[in-house]
Amino acid sequence: MHLLLDLDGTLVDTNSCKFHDIKHGRDRQFSLADIPSIPGAEEFVETLRERCDSILIVSDSHGAYVGRVAEERFGLPWLALADKPNIANLRSFLAERMGFPLQHVPEEFLFVGDTKLDVQLARGLWIPSVMLDLWHYGAPNRDQPDPSSDRAKRIQEGATYYCRSFDEVLGILDNPAEKRYVLEDPKGRSSARLRTDENWRDGVTVIRALAREQQGPCDAYGARMRSRQFQSEDRTDDFLRRISRDVSLYLREEVLTEGKFSWDLATCVADKTTTKPPRKMANFLQALDVDVPKAELFSWLPDVQGSIRHQPKRDDRTKFVRQFVRLDPAANLHGKSVIVFDDQYTTGATAVAHADMLLEAGARNVLFVALFFLVNDVPIERSCPRCGKAGTVRIRYRKKDGGAFYSCVPPEYRGKGCGWVGNIG
Ligand SMILES: [Zn+2]
Repeated sequence: MHLLLDLDGTLVDTNSCKFHDIKHGRDRQFSLADIPSIPGAEEFVETLRERCDSILIVSDSHGAYVGRVAEERFGLPWLALADKPNIANLRSFLAERMGFPLQHVPEEFLFVGDTKLDVQLARGLWIPSVMLDLWHYGAPNRDQPDPSSDRAKRIQEGATYYCRSFDEVLGILDNPAEKRYVLEDPKGRSSARLRTDENWRDGVTVIRALAREQQGPCDAYGARMRSRQFQSEDRTDDFLRRISRDVSLYLREEVLTEGKFSWDLATCVADKTTTKPPRKMANFLQALDVDVPKAELFSWLPDVQGSIRHQPKRDDRTKFVRQFVRLDPAANLHGKSVIVFDDQYTTGATAVAHADMLLEAGARNVLFVALFFLVNDVPIERSCPRCGKAGTVRIRYRKKDGGAFYSCVPPEYRGKGCGWVGNIG
């Protein structure tokens, strides 16, 4: 494995503005002793040194600073002024030094960083990445963001892995397949832990998702194709069997044996009579092979108009669900712990609205499991060969077969481009 490591906020605790001039190369008289390592970072690098084929520091900061810290503190080679998330500098560096991508596949690399720019850079090169959240790891100059709402946003940047400590990163090196999301790898056992909140019933409301549905470049594991198949009119029984087998295995091994809760009931968000495929969620629920009673508790009111997907704002989505979805009034949920399934997590509004309805009906703990979560799009460097604009071209995926193509996204798809489409590669 070849490790690519961000520096500021990942190995050294330099987010405070007092380091500004140093990082930008304006103060070159600084003492190395003034640059605090994040607790555990030096040991982390020592362990990586034994276990990785190569390690490279990739930083947006100035070379006069990056070079000294990288070499004198960590003994590592470095690339400064990387210009994240633009891929050009890192790509040409890797091409020159390592013959990337001809001599290495992207899966031999792992990019570890603490910001969305790091993740976007890695995704732009189709390299697997780690979003590292060290906020509760004792970094002294770090603000303490609200863990739950902040975490969901950071996970939706679409890194391959989300870690809260250096040890978790090392755990990925031990077993990269097992640490992948449940529906991204046959061996995957991880879920995206989007939110964990204590609720007013003295219980917890937990939101998890089992695979990334990517937009734009990603890595080889993104589950766009699987998500598309799940929602396809042509969804086969065989596909449903395989996906419910994978989710059942996850529930049995990672949820139902956790010990903290005993789950009383499994349900799913309601299918409309017009949903394609018919009973999209209900048939999935019934296909699960788990030792938990199942009940279809939610239904749409017959006068429902429009679709939640046409409500881009979170608050409108919540209102839409609360207006048109009903929870079975005959269900006895008092003190119960309920698992709810949905196919896609975007803003979290559906999840929270359904959890609230269950709590209002007396449930104590709610685990909302989305099969796929939509990750943020990544800008790409290519400009349009027809209109010449930069920044309007994105990677999109065909509905028909899931194949990727370039699109100079036109206004009808909320872009500013001319509508040009082109093949990739
Ligand atoms: Zn164009």
